[in-house]
Amino acid sequence: MVLDPATLTVAFVLLSGALGTLLLFSWALNRKVKALAWWGSAYWLIAMGIGLANIRQGQPAYSVLLVANILGLLCYGALYTGCRVFNGRSASLPGALAGAAIWLGAFPFIYTSQSERLLLSALLTLVYSILSAWELGRYASRPLASSRVVLVLLLGLAIFNLSRIGIALAPTSVPWIDALAHRWSPSMALLLVVFGPSVAFMFLSMAKEGVEFEYKQAALVDPLTSVPNRRAFMQNAGRLLAQSGARPVSCLLFDLDNFKAINDRYGHDTGDRILTIFGEVLTRHLPQRTFGRLGGEEFGAILPLDAREAALLADRVRHAFASAGAETLGDLARVTVSVGCVTSAGLDAGALLRRADAALYQAKRSGRNIVIAA
Ligand code: GH3
Ligand code: MG
Ligand code: MG
Repeated sequence: MVLDPATLTVAFVLLSGALGTLLLFSWALNRKVKALAWWGSAYWLIAMGIGLANIRQGQPAYSVLLVANILGLLCYGALYTGCRVFNGRSASLPGALAGAAIWLGAFPFIYTSQSERLLLSALLTLVYSILSAWELGRYASRPLASSRVVLVLLLGLAIFNLSRIGIALAPTSVPWIDALAHRWSPSMALLLVVFGPSVAFMFLSMAKEGVEFEYKQAALVDPLTSVPNRRAFMQNAGRLLAQSGARPVSCLLFDLDNFKAINDRYGHDTGDRILTIFGEVLTRHLPQRTFGRLGGEEFGAILPLDAREAALLADRVRHAFASAGAETLGDLARVTVSVGCVTSAGLDAGALLRRADAALYQAKRSGRNIVIAA
């Protein structure tokens, strides 16, 4: 099969323009995902760069080579910036423009040599591919499967550019590799015609998965204290109880003491700060996914511990809260917590919480700031 270069180039340019428009459209629908705007612009830049470089047959003019490559490198800069922004990092203007600026500075010295031009452009795009992959891997703010796929695709792009560097430096030529990697060959166009839409599709998946992840977080995490909310707690508790079978499980119910009085005396903001401090104490002392804020100033935990271990843990939390409160609030307010504990095997979460609540009631009646086991 003979690949027609002109057809492939037109297909690539039109496809990139269409994908850029679709990415920008998705950004317009969801302005919060700013990375889509960067990635959409990247597709437009490469469409213009490749379009310009191939608008005329034969060796492109000096100015065309200069501008087309600048557009291509700006495309990589936008790709990289999109990866930064996607993970909540700031857009770096020097980072986005560096490749194009280096090209602009070096061009007068290399424009007569095709292999030097190839070397520099491949080197710059290699650096951008690796930096983009690094951004997605190192600074991933959410565990997204589609982001890992893009990381692999970017590493593929890096290997491709590395092979182009190898060609520029190699003393002998391998025709099929040369055909693939030189300035703009049909094989390279074909490769990019497949690569471009795959990456664009994955960018959209990343945006969608990221938004879904945030909704899920919002549905499962208490916004004030950042600990799991009641719904998440009940889900996690159900899972733990199903796993523990006939082994004993302990439920701890924490209720901050005289909290209404603290709010009344020091204000609601101080009350909020105290709740946050208690959330931090729980996060420090209890394994992940074993506790949550049940509502108001009440927190619960369900753990695979026997009665003695559970009472010890509850007491550690009680002490830690008193000291953390004193450290943060000074003499402003003395904060304490009462805890009801129950240990049993074979009860569901609701029954465990009811029994722990009875123990908590006893703790309050005994004068508060105490752990009582049912
Ligand atoms: P006890 O020692 O018997 O538990 O007394 P208490 O005052 O802690 O209990 P009560 O149930 O009377 O009051 C709970 C208070 O918790 C009332 C409510 O205003 C406060 N509260 C609930 N949620 C929040 C919140 O998100 N922020 C703040 N600042 N206060 C809250
Ligand atoms: Mg209460
Ligand atoms: Mg209370």
